[in-house]
Amino acid sequence: MATLAIVGAGFCGTMVATHVLRLSPGSIDRIVLVERTGPEVGGVAYGTPSTSHTLNVPAGRMSAFEDDPDDFLRHVRAHDRALTGGSFVPRHLYGEYLGRSLAEAERSSGVRLIRVAGEAVDVEEHADGARLTLSDGRLVNAAHCVLAVGNYPPSDPPVAGEGLYASLRYARDPWAADALERVREEPVLLLGSGLTMCDIVLALRDDDQQAPIVAISRRGLLPQAHRLSARPPPHLDPPDDVDVWQPTALGMLRALRGEVRRAEESGIDWREVVTSIRDATPALWQRLATDERRRFLRHARPYWETHRHRSSPETAFAVESMLESGALRLVRGTVRSYTETPTGVLVRYAPRDGSDPELLEVGKVINCTGPDTDLARVRDPLIRALRERGAIRPDALGLGLDTHEDGRLIAADGAATRRLTLVGPLRKGRLWEHTAVPELRVEARRVAERLCAV
Ligand SMILES: Cc1cc2nc3c(=O)[nH]c(=O)nc-3n(C[C@H](O)[C@H](O)[C@H](O)COP(=O)(O)OP(=O)(O)OC[C@H]3O[C@@H](n4cnc5c(N)ncnc54)[C@H](O)[C@@H]3O)c2cc1C
Repeated sequence: MATLAIVGAGFCGTMVATHVLRLSPGSIDRIVLVERTGPEVGGVAYGTPSTSHTLNVPAGRMSAFEDDPDDFLRHVRAHDRALTGGSFVPRHLYGEYLGRSLAEAERSSGVRLIRVAGEAVDVEEHADGARLTLSDGRLVNAAHCVLAVGNYPPSDPPVAGEGLYASLRYARDPWAADALERVREEPVLLLGSGLTMCDIVLALRDDDQQAPIVAISRRGLLPQAHRLSARPPPHLDPPDDVDVWQPTALGMLRALRGEVRRAEESGIDWREVVTSIRDATPALWQRLATDERRRFLRHARPYWETHRHRSSPETAFAVESMLESGALRLVRGTVRSYTETPTGVLVRYAPRDGSDPELLEVGKVINCTGPDTDLARVRDPLIRALRERGAIRPDALGLGLDTHEDGRLIAADGAATRRLTLVGPLRKGRLWEHTAVPELRVEARRVAERLCAV
């Protein structure tokens, strides 16, 4: 019998643990679940207490178990019968649901679950297993270790005046506990205009932000919105010819646009077509040569992100209302420099239309540009230790870490590790569409099954 160590109790770590508990008796008799934020599960996405932070996938598509698609819906309807499969519910309900799923699996399992509040700073593979080191010196010996560490905070954009990055007037991690600390009467600048920006805007509004909020991004693209509907949209099969779409970035986008046009002629919304290729996306991605993947990221990524990862209708409506009232302003442009003054930060930016640089004076700058996936530079102690020992290597596109097909990490020498498995969004380099519950739940189950069968 063996111990499984899991680092991270977000969706992925919690679901690997839940499946291993459910699969008992298997080859694992003990799970050590290590989470640096404490005993709660849910991670960054589902740990938010704000009721304004809604899921961006309808409740009817958020079951943690793909073989029981209504599981999450039943959970939320037990509290509120008015909710439907098309509802976009607060994310903290999903955190509760994950906690309940884990606790239920634990109650009826022969596997012992040990929850450890602590930060893993190293994991070393040896002939019989893996040894995890925590920041306070505690050690965990295990037969296997699953890294379910999620994403890392955004990187600091390279601009003049980087001294700001050490100041209290700058928040690098928009999810950090102190990120929204500010003077309510001072304007706030948000870097980025995606889903994170929307969340932070709503949190500032709920926190009684008095002065204007400005969001800046190169193209000024907001996430597209889901449609308001009582039911989740009907399932649409992927196009019949998706396996033979031309394996270039342009070829695939053209094929997708063609599908959207044809679907619209039959009264089907573009969103359904984009969703329909979800399961086929990893295979499409793997058919692209590395240069074509790069081309896709360079030219199409912002459009893909805003169409693929949509906001809930509630979020879109709230953001739109704030834009209309002037509480929020969206600027297309690029920040060129920061100058700290006794009363705030002077931000100089170049508008996208090529006009002369403009100035903004704000009290705080919050980085909402999305996770830093360049693992060659991420400063996290665990990643640094693994990188320095050559136990991992960043993928060729800077989207995360290189992994074997089954999720085992690839070391710097190109060999797959035997005892270290990565689960979660850092596998995007290999799979691309690997961000949300509908994909991650499948991966968590597969990893649990593999480890229980060893
Ligand atoms: C704000 C936000 C909203 C989202 N909304 C949705 C949604 O509505 N629907 C959807 O399907 N997807 C959504 N997603 C996508 C989301 O990423 C996935 O659904 C999923 O939550 C990812 O889970 P994870 O376990 O990989 O990462 P995380 O949830 O980030 O969990 C990783 C955990 O690992 C811990 N950790 C990291 N390093 C260490 C260490 N060294 N030692 C100990 N602990 C460590 C972290 O503290 C964290 O709790 C959202 C993502 C974000 C960021």
